[in-house]
Amino acid sequence: MPQKTLSIIKPDAVKKHVIGKILQKFEENGLKIIALKMVHLKKEDAKKFYMVHKDKPFYESLVEFMTSSPVVVQVLEGENAVEKNREIMGATDFKKAKEGTIRKEFATDIEKNAVHGSDSTQNAEIEIEFFFKKENIFSY
Ligand code: ADP
Ligand code: MG
Repeated sequence: MPQKTLSIIKPDAVKKHVIGKILQKFEENGLKIIALKMVHLKKEDAKKFYMVHKDKPFYESLVEFMTSSPVVVQVLEGENAVEKNREIMGATDFKKAKEGTIRKEFATDIEKNAVHGSDSTQNAEIEIEFFFKKENIFSY
């Protein structure tokens, strides 16, 4: 059963000009890009998106970071897409990320870690809906 997951190329990676290289990682690992857009999140959007982390010490900083430049948001589809994307991304802390993962290659620190990826199929559904209308998600 193919799954869908939400991915965000974060401001650090956008500013490093590695959007293309990151999208290539998804495609060459069998994750199809079925929706894609660039957005500059407002504070309220970022706060809402990361609401699960509101009590964490890094919440305010994360919101600042995520609103510091445009981001590129995509829906990825493929077998086991949620877990597969998490594998391709690598560990949250890039120092623990495996060779060949996006975070190993492109992260700057534990906050500026290049990409977001949904952590469950349930959250993927919520996060996809946060960013995309149904008619802007495609099948090909
Ligand atoms: P992931 O993005 O791997 O799912 P989390 O959901 O735990 O990780 O955290 C969300 C984001 O918050 C991380 O990707 C990272 O940008 C930031 N973050 C997580 N932990 C820390 C930390 N200890 N210090 C600063 N920022 C953090
Ligand atoms: Mg997370």
